[in-house]
Amino acid sequence: MRLLPSFDQSRRWLTLGVLVPLGMLIVSGLMLLDMRKDAWLKAEHTSRNLLQVMERDIARNVEIFDLSLRAVVENLRVPGVAELAPEIRQLVLFDRAASAKDIGVLLVIDEKGDVAIDAAGIAPRKANYLDRDYFQAHKLRNDLGLYIGTPLVSRLTGARMIPLSRRISKPDGSFGGVVLGTMQLSYFSKLLSQISLDQDDAINLYHRDGTRIMRHPFVESDIGANIAGASTFDRFVREGRGTFIDTSVRDGVERHYTFTQIGDFPLILNVALATKGIEATWLAKATVIGTVVLILCGINFGLSLLFVVELRRRTAVQAQLTWMSRTDFLTGLPNRRRFDEAFAQAWESARWKRTALSLLIIDADHFKRINDRYGHAIGDEVLQKFALKLAASVHRPEDLVCRVGGEEFVVLLPETEQAGALRIAEKIHEEVSALAAAAAGITPGTFTVSIGLATLEPERPDLGAPIDLYRMADAALYEAKAGGRNQTRCAEPYAEVVARKRTVLRVLHGTSAST
Ligand code: GH3
Ligand code: MG
Ligand code: MG
Repeated sequence: MRLLPSFDQSRRWLTLGVLVPLGMLIVSGLMLLDMRKDAWLKAEHTSRNLLQVMERDIARNVEIFDLSLRAVVENLRVPGVAELAPEIRQLVLFDRAASAKDIGVLLVIDEKGDVAIDAAGIAPRKANYLDRDYFQAHKLRNDLGLYIGTPLVSRLTGARMIPLSRRISKPDGSFGGVVLGTMQLSYFSKLLSQISLDQDDAINLYHRDGTRIMRHPFVESDIGANIAGASTFDRFVREGRGTFIDTSVRDGVERHYTFTQIGDFPLILNVALATKGIEATWLAKATVIGTVVLILCGINFGLSLLFVVELRRRTAVQAQLTWMSRTDFLTGLPNRRRFDEAFAQAWESARWKRTALSLLIIDADHFKRINDRYGHAIGDEVLQKFALKLAASVHRPEDLVCRVGGEEFVVLLPETEQAGALRIAEKIHEEVSALAAAAAGITPGTFTVSIGLATLEPERPDLGAPIDLYRMADAALYEAKAGGRNQTRCAEPYAEVVARKRTVLRVLHGTSAST
């Protein structure tokens, strides 16, 4: 019974030892998830900003280029321009944009594909462009507007560039040649390389047909490669602008892509950040924090466990000590302390329920002699055997046999009338008469006991305290001893004792019995 509260307590500590680390784990897990979300938001934010800045730069440059091409086309239409002296014609046709350093060449190509006018000098450089895609495209259609081609090596400068061209139509609408401006790839590489990137991150510029125009970090073999048909590229074209995560066809690295088409031009720009890189810093922090939290949780749990184990050990020790403090060492019977407690309880219960309570005090007869004759060790052995006999004499769980003194024992019999208690006493005498210690020469009948019996009658609950009942039983025991031992004597009912005392008092004080 006494173990129960402490068992509850240890379970409470154990629950606490589990719940506290669990709470710590959940809170830190949520924190880490939040940090991860922040890392992604930051990456997306950075990508979008980068993309916007670069898109604006490229779009503005292409527009300026186109303005120069348009100017040439429109100025050529002005009557008389073709007949101007070459020096004047150069001034009319080409504005200052033609001298911008990112422009490779700016040419007027006639319908046969030959260079007719060259912005670089009065004498045009010699080259034929009949075989170029843009030349053939403009020749076939008059509605292409600005035509942006894929990377080529310039015939005149040998530099890598992309061609931007517009058709020249004769007054009758027929094909009259092409104005060609080339944009050096170095412009793109310079622009992109200003951005510092982490490992596996990249910025790509594509032509809408899937050809890569530029990549940062720059790898020669990437320029001109075509990735049309790749899942990533399909989305660039289909969606025009947006973000997604996919695996690169180029190197199999999973990246977060932020992409946009540049203005209305057939150019697509993307910022591709490796997903591993986005999470790398977070992962490093998360690993440290996670490990520390796990260790702390482990320590917390371990300490709780140790505490609980210690608590249970102490409880067990305490229970053992409690048991020992209430048990007689020699016979294993409950001792005087236990008897006092049980007696008080039984007393209260009997008064409350109005039931009988009997008490036997049993004292070994001439035990001193047994000790003297057979020795103290044999005496002890006899006492142990006697304890067993006593325990065997009662059967109900409420009956209590205790050793209250050296060779003095009590039997407490709740809800037992005097007659019932007398039967128990007889049983004890019977059991004791069979007690023997053959090795020591103690034969059956050598060892006897005297018993004093007192009963608390339910109809006469006029005894004041347990000690009154005890004294009555002790007095009865005294009578049994005086009467020759090896017998039981019952105490007189208390009311009769009181009545007799009153009579004695009356006689002593000379009062008549009639008063
Ligand atoms: P009586 O019939 O009047 O009770 O005589 P008695 O000799 O039994 O009474 P007394 O009270 O004079 O002596 C009790 C003896 O019991 C004294 C002691 O040597 C012995 N005794 C008490 N406790 C123990 C014990 O634990 N072991 C042994 N061997 N003897 C004990
Ligand atoms: Mg005694
Ligand atoms: Mg005795």
